[in-house]
Amino acid sequence: MELPEIVKCFLEKRKEGTSKTDICSLCNGACCKGSGFAILENVIQIYEKYKAGLLKKEDYAFIPELPFGQFINTYFDDCIINGGLKAFFPKTLSNDNNLIGVPPFGSYWDNRIFIKNNNSWINHYGCIFLNRKYSEYDSKPNYCILHENNKEHEISAKPIDCVFLSCYSIKSIKIPTQNETNLWFNLLNYCFPNSEMRYQEILKK
Ligand code: SF4
Ligand code: SF4
Repeated sequence: MELPEIVKCFLEKRKEGTSKTDICSLCNGACCKGSGFAILENVIQIYEKYKAGLLKKEDYAFIPELPFGQFINTYFDDCIINGGLKAFFPKTLSNDNNLIGVPPFGSYWDNRIFIKNNNSWINHYGCIFLNRKYSEYDSKPNYCILHENNKEHEISAKPIDCVFLSCYSIKSIKIPTQNETNLWFNLLNYCFPNSEMRYQEILKK
């Protein structure tokens, strides 16, 4: 599915001045210590990859044969952003392969910041969809197992908020302004409306 033109233009503008080369393949995935979010259209594709046996990590085996809803609850924290957009944040994997989520009450962001500020070890392992656990002491490159080359033009398994993130050079992230972030959330909600309702409909099937 082609990304809406307005989203493509936004991403193009967002990436102005950032590196045009594939610097991520040389990086240990520093940005993936704290994941971006997927939208419903992304998690549907991630689940398809899972069902086809294409989600493979070096240090963890995904639990087999989960139905869609259980797969989401196991591997994502879901919440509503800015009063409308349904967002799915990949969980973190601990050193002993336990999944670490954010409590599902109150503000997702506040809870996530609180947990990370009070448990610094959590920052060491990174998103469940890294090919192996992140370590700041290991500079060997890591990669996202959801990566797809068409991610800036089509809805893919790569969480769209991870597509939004760009770097000037390795680990030098172009930090978005608060306005830009709000515009991004509202734009996604406008282009992919009623996401919570559509998600609930899928769960009922
Ligand atoms: S976006 Fe930046 S921090 Fe993330 S993997 Fe690429 S170079 Fe590294
Ligand atoms: S989904 Fe991929 S790009 Fe996004 S945080 Fe996880 S590993 Fe990084």
